[in-house]
Amino acid sequence: MSVTLVEENLNPYQIAQQQVDAAASLLQLPEEIIGILKRPMRVLTVNFTARMDDGSIRVFEGYRSQHNDAIGPTKGGIRFHPDVTLDEVKALSMWMSFKCGVVGLPYGGGKGGVICDPRLHSKSELERISRAYMEAIADFVGPDKDIPAPDVYTNAQTMGWMMDTYSRLKGRYSPGVITGKPIILGGSKGRNEATAQGCVYTILAALEDMGLAPEKASVAVQGFGNAGRIAARLLSQAGCKIVAVSDSKGGIYLEGGLDIEEAERLKDEGALASYKGAEAINNEQIIGLNVDILVPAALENVITASNAHTVQAKIVAEAANGPTTPEGDRILAKKGTVVIPDVLANAGGVTVSYFEWVQNLMHYYWSEAEVLEKLETNMIHSYRAVRDLAKEFSVDLRTAAYMIAIKRISAAMQARGWV
Ligand code: GLU
Repeated sequence: MSVTLVEENLNPYQIAQQQVDAAASLLQLPEEIIGILKRPMRVLTVNFTARMDDGSIRVFEGYRSQHNDAIGPTKGGIRFHPDVTLDEVKALSMWMSFKCGVVGLPYGGGKGGVICDPRLHSKSELERISRAYMEAIADFVGPDKDIPAPDVYTNAQTMGWMMDTYSRLKGRYSPGVITGKPIILGGSKGRNEATAQGCVYTILAALEDMGLAPEKASVAVQGFGNAGRIAARLLSQAGCKIVAVSDSKGGIYLEGGLDIEEAERLKDEGALASYKGAEAINNEQIIGLNVDILVPAALENVITASNAHTVQAKIVAEAANGPTTPEGDRILAKKGTVVIPDVLANAGGVTVSYFEWVQNLMHYYWSEAEVLEKLETNMIHSYRAVRDLAKEFSVDLRTAAYMIAIKRISAAMQARGWV
């Protein structure tokens, strides 16, 4: 195989801007609208301190980006990761706007991030970091302003601490300030599984379109966090054969199919690699496996100009945000790979976050069955709308999804008289 060395721009903010350009040119939008959409409306940088268990004080840098609030308050997760950058957070906030737009939620996009490595902190250190970050951004967020949620390396417990800090600062119980909370603090049933569940609904719909039965489909999942491990679990319950999974340390491959329960048990012990009988693979190899479905469920820029040609999957379902670069997209489109884009494939998380927020505002809580039924209806409806528009304009699903979202946001901006 010939290896082409391609200089590719991997800056997520510039990638998000290129994606806006691609969709906006098809919609023939005025320059002012494109100009607004290509930048976040507000960005906050905070530096704050937290005490470590050994008594020392550490300074942390964090961000919160609010992309566009024409349709409603901004919404999106908070990421804790050593590689967080401001440009990444800006891009993630843009992707949240398009995600909310494509599935029709009354939100714009927001995103937060803290540069830290949760794998190196104790629970009590993480609690102090979480509370200090929330204290630093408290005036910037709020139930009718900007509503955070979990993202990479944050979870329900993180949200619980942050909700508590916000409520104490404001002097009133404010569950609607943040979603993805523990159920006892006003979290929604089904929220923990929602990102993966939504992704699985779109995969099953795409399989149906291809006439491929789930029982005949093999799957590789890159990333074994909240999205990846639950997607693997749900896909295996749907009858698919999960042949490979990986986490940040590496992955495992078993041609006959992995027992996901066993993989989850090992992951909890920090020993995924010790799965008996499985072959060790790395995070690059998992992208090129001979499978029907590839689910990138970790970070950005994993399918790029340098490896997209190795992808053999018929469906790439982006449970992660931003896993495929524009050049990667072009290569996959040429091969006829169906890419279910992040803004659609992983929109189940924010959809159930929206349900959680609605329940918080009403103080009236739904059953899990009710949540799942509403989620499935919305995901399938959104998938079909994207698929049909993609056909109409002969574009890939990402461009079609952006077109739907951008049209909605533009209509709101115009109705408000901004443009
Ligand atoms: N962090 C998730 C995402 O990227 C969830 C956001 C939310 O629930 O607000 O979609």
